[in-house]
Amino acid sequence: MKLSQGINVERLQQRIMALGEIGKTQSGGVTRRALSSEDKQGHQLVIGWMQELGMNVRYDHFGNLIGRLEGNLPDMTPVIIGSHIDSVKNGGKFDGVIGVLGGIEVAQTLCEEGFSHTRPLEIIAFCEEEGSRFNDGLFGSRGVAGKLNEADLLKKDEQGITRLEALQNFSNQIQPKNMEQSVLKKGDVHAYLEMHIEQGPYLEAEELPIAVVTDIAGPHWMTITLDGEAGHAGTVPMHLRKDPVPAASEIILFIERLCNMPDAKETVGTVGILEAVPGGSNIIPAKVRFTLDLRDIDLNRREDLFKRIVNKIQEVCKKRGVDWNIEEGMRIPPVSCSHRITSLLLKAMEDIGLPSKKMVSGAGHDAMLMTEVTDVGMIFVRCKKGISHQPEEWADAGDIAKGTETLLAAAKVLLNE
Ligand SMILES: [Zn+2]
Repeated sequence: MKLSQGINVERLQQRIMALGEIGKTQSGGVTRRALSSEDKQGHQLVIGWMQELGMNVRYDHFGNLIGRLEGNLPDMTPVIIGSHIDSVKNGGKFDGVIGVLGGIEVAQTLCEEGFSHTRPLEIIAFCEEEGSRFNDGLFGSRGVAGKLNEADLLKKDEQGITRLEALQNFSNQIQPKNMEQSVLKKGDVHAYLEMHIEQGPYLEAEELPIAVVTDIAGPHWMTITLDGEAGHAGTVPMHLRKDPVPAASEIILFIERLCNMPDAKETVGTVGILEAVPGGSNIIPAKVRFTLDLRDIDLNRREDLFKRIVNKIQEVCKKRGVDWNIEEGMRIPPVSCSHRITSLLLKAMEDIGLPSKKMVSGAGHDAMLMTEVTDVGMIFVRCKKGISHQPEEWADAGDIAKGTETLLAAAKVLLNE
């Protein structure tokens, strides 16, 4: 079956399923951790599809796989479509994959239609987006955005293999010592497009197949430790306790109330790890440690929330005689997609009869880093129940096709600008 503008839905679906066979787990998920032998097999399959349509294929020094389709003017800066094909342990078949294979489908359709374009088109599969092997994601896109250093290469996996070694063993084209040469500067790329599954329940609830992403929320991670006084659960009277658990409870409920503002749906706060030490049913804990993941598309609002949370921690801990400490983790500002490309994608959606829906992304993507280099446009595709990073992850072929059609239409404009 071919849609009006020429995407081959069946071919795309077959390729997604074929890639899903590589690193397939017993529960029907996939494990293709970055730079592993399964990742290599996946790359070989993708390289074959790129070469089949006449693309030149290369690796950059960050281990990013790039297929290039020349335009009429090879010196012009390229339009890039990409995402990633590595996965988390026992993850899904669609996360990242639809962006890379959708990009290849766009390139193949352009070739089959004999579409004439001046700019080159590059399809990129970024290295280790998930961070499931070296515990540090968005590696390839942080690389091209010039945000990596030696320390990133010396990170080790569970077997003690460094990222440097893993990169060198993956392909002899990858020479991490020369990574400076692969950094992209502003002006090196005309535009970047990415299609990704939503990984959330919004589009399904709205009964929409796809939407255009306007902003990507920035995360602020921290670990909060409250130090109280351990004691026997039976002998220490309530009024003499310095129990960090009720203190943590007050703080966590405050965070929930604070993030639950009716006029700021994009603000979210999550306590994902909560631990009482030493952890015995008859011991008043000495310590409570919990993580906080705070996200927003508005940096000022996020910073303001952080200040109010710190004030609350101070107040609660003073009242309860508990000491506190905040260890800061990732603190990334939110980013916006290009207005111009967003409009182009919305127009393309209208042209194929879809409602021109906009939304924000709560999850980070390679596109977030690419905003440092060029104008970015992003499409989300509905996924079943919003499930991701699990074997049950699913996106319908029809929805992926609509996203790919939209990518194709936008690419046709951008490639001839
Ligand atoms: Zn992804």
